[in-house]
Amino acid sequence: MIDYHLHTTRCCHATGSLEDYLAEAEKKQLREIGFSDHFPLDLLGVTPRAPVTMEASELEEYIKEVEGLKSLGSNMNIKLGIEIDYIPGTENKLGKLLEQYDFDYVIGSIHYLGDWDFTHPVYADHYQDYDMDSLYDKYFKLLQDACRSRLFDVIGHIDVIKKFGYRPANDLEALYIETARLLRESGTCIELNTAGQDAPVGEFYPDPQLLEVCLSEGVAVTMGSDAHSPEQVGRYFNEAVELLKLSGCRELTVFEQRKRSSIQL
Ligand SMILES: [Zn+2]
Ligand SMILES: [Zn+2]
Repeated sequence: MIDYHLHTTRCCHATGSLEDYLAEAEKKQLREIGFSDHFPLDLLGVTPRAPVTMEASELEEYIKEVEGLKSLGSNMNIKLGIEIDYIPGTENKLGKLLEQYDFDYVIGSIHYLGDWDFTHPVYADHYQDYDMDSLYDKYFKLLQDACRSRLFDVIGHIDVIKKFGYRPANDLEALYIETARLLRESGTCIELNTAGQDAPVGEFYPDPQLLEVCLSEGVAVTMGSDAHSPEQVGRYFNEAVELLKLSGCRELTVFEQRKRSSIQL
């Protein structure tokens, strides 16, 4: 099994050393892990109210540290990934920045609508100011733009807008189909992200309906725990694999130097 979504202390909201994450992955008998810490928002010209990503000056060190972990002689395949906020208007800047680094894969995630970090518990009461149907629509339209940018290999926690349990009244099937088609056309994967199980919503990202739509549209899938502490590595993976198999998923996507291949599930 693979876990492609691990954070490090550089994002200011995670704990443990890289060696601790590796040790946990070995304990859980994973075959491959990928670190995908938060790309510096300041490089995109964004200053959040409180630090939620590494700083620009830390990026080289992060890369060195992940590369260094490979030299410890573990049998684990270790990949260098990154999780980057999709901020509309920064596409050209980000495209040029990405040319400078040798990431194995790039996860594109949406944590912000305007300057609202809607994934942050401190700002969760802002959901009450919105109509959920239009909020979900706005979120998925932004996600579709992230696909169109073709900057990302994987979309992170695809329906994280549900994190605090606020749901729309409308059925989302049409929006899901439209999104899944764009994912496929742009060659962007999704991840089965198990962190949602520990969030107030209490279910994986994506939910079973969205997962099914993505699979039936031919979207490729990878796996991640979004671990912010070592014990979270590989969390709920048995349940996740069961869900994937039940949904008809037969393989998982892996990356090397941003080239895709697949392994049997
Ligand atoms: Zn994220
Ligand atoms: Zn993450």
